[in-house]
Amino acid sequence: MMKKCPVSALNTVLTALSGVAPLYLPVNGKGKDTRAKYTKYEDGMIYSTALNTVRSAKDFFFPQTENLVNFKVDGKNIEIIDPREEHEDFILFGVRACDYKSFDVLDRVFLSEPVDSYYASRRAHGIVFTMACTRPAETCFCTTFGIDPSEPQGDVSCYMTETDVYFDAKTEKGEVVLAKLGDLLADCEESTVNEQKELISSRMKALPLSSLSTEAFGGDKLDKLFDDPRWESLSESCLACGTCTYVCPTCQCYDIKDFDTGHGVCRFRCWDSCMYSEFTKMSAGQPRLTQMQRFRQRFMHKLVYYPANNDGLFSCVGCGRCLASCPISMNIVKVMKTLSEEAEDNGSK
Ligand code: SF4
Ligand code: SF4
Repeated sequence: MMKKCPVSALNTVLTALSGVAPLYLPVNGKGKDTRAKYTKYEDGMIYSTALNTVRSAKDFFFPQTENLVNFKVDGKNIEIIDPREEHEDFILFGVRACDYKSFDVLDRVFLSEPVDSYYASRRAHGIVFTMACTRPAETCFCTTFGIDPSEPQGDVSCYMTETDVYFDAKTEKGEVVLAKLGDLLADCEESTVNEQKELISSRMKALPLSSLSTEAFGGDKLDKLFDDPRWESLSESCLACGTCTYVCPTCQCYDIKDFDTGHGVCRFRCWDSCMYSEFTKMSAGQPRLTQMQRFRQRFMHKLVYYPANNDGLFSCVGCGRCLASCPISMNIVKVMKTLSEEAEDNGSK
């Protein structure tokens, strides 16, 4: 049964949730940077209704840097130390439908054999409360990839109106957590949020990117797209800064490095970017010599290679972060629109 509390009681509910397990939620920054970031909840913190956090919720399952293993060296002896501690359950509150879908994209990479046990452990311990997007932005295009922001998934999906917050448990984990909130939540009918769902759907339809199509893309379009001459003009201004990959909830490339601690070695992994000139560099050389090749790789992976290997699922969830953060205003929407036009129209092949 759906539950609700008044908006004025949300902080009481959040405090109770933080007693169930450590709670992380979007909170607006203070000072010059007021953008919303995931923050560990402390009493009195205000949940940010900003549409997107600067960095996505993927950080909780696939952190930017992570210690994998330590080697303690003593003469000719090497001791191998697993630095992991048992993860405890934690709650992520306010994850948007697009970011929740990104976990599906990441799962197919990290939970396929051989399973990434670092990622798997975090996924098993995370309890996700999603939040429907009452006010989607002009940069949103999740519906292009079949995501419905009025029906966010997760362990509990939430809806927020001017007066109330609604909680709908979708999994057993979600039901257990909501049960722990006891009288803080009142029962209500599921149909209570129907109006909210219709409002979200009509707002999504009115957005400028609502008609963006994936028709020209997919696993069977490799030959058609790989040699398209328009990659040159699309990529020519790219600064190779990597910002688009770092804000993206579905980008999953990483590097593994060794750090000499003076008495051993710390082996860690950190996010990497296919936009960087040293990415894929090997002792035999660098297979992607130009920025065009690196730029093409990023979009071909999201729109062709990934769906080819994952039942047609695209590796973009339309969150719009790269639209808002690229310093030269290049992004996946421009790539999709350009490459969706018939090549003859551009005078190319
Ligand atoms: S490519 Fe851009 S819009 Fe798509 S998921 Fe990544 S950051 Fe979001
Ligand atoms: S954010 Fe823009 S300029 Fe930077 S690597 Fe991505 S496409 Fe290139």
